[in-house]
Amino acid sequence: MPAAASEEQRAKDRVKSSVDRASVIFAERNIRFTDLRRKVFEEIASTTASVGAYEVLDRLAKKGTRLAPISVYRALDALLDAGVVHRLESKNAYFACRRLHQPRTGRRPMFLSCEQCGTVTETDGEDIFASIDVAARSTHFEPRVRFVEVTGTCQECANRRKD
Ligand SMILES: [Zn+2]
Ligand SMILES: [Zn+2]
Repeated sequence: MPAAASEEQRAKDRVKSSVDRASVIFAERNIRFTDLRRKVFEEIASTTASVGAYEVLDRLAKKGTRLAPISVYRALDALLDAGVVHRLESKNAYFACRRLHQPRTGRRPMFLSCEQCGTVTETDGEDIFASIDVAARSTHFEPRVRFVEVTGTCQECANRRKD
């Protein structure tokens, strides 16, 4: 099998396992993982970068599913509520949770967004949230931070630069 084909197959497998995991999370929360929600999630899970709502709309239209923007936004809201996608505030774009397959700990994530390739990853950010809480409360401010975004250079881009 050519390398490109197996890479494509691996990508398909990745999306499928993310979709399976998302459907379990929806079931656990007693929310319906509708066909539309699944389609929108598939588009977001199919890339390592973040995807804007209108890009999701375009991609689905190319596959024959024409939707009103409000339908996509509603599906995105449901996916956000379930925690299977996150929103990157800086780009107003969405990405599939990178910790879908990890046990839910309730610990809040830090999003790492590569300025070069657009890849988004996430890691445990609880220590940072704790620091923010302490700093904000010291001025009698009640913080309500749910996500922290950090932009920079991913490992792959850093390696490429060294070549
Ligand atoms: Zn996540
Ligand atoms: Zn990168």
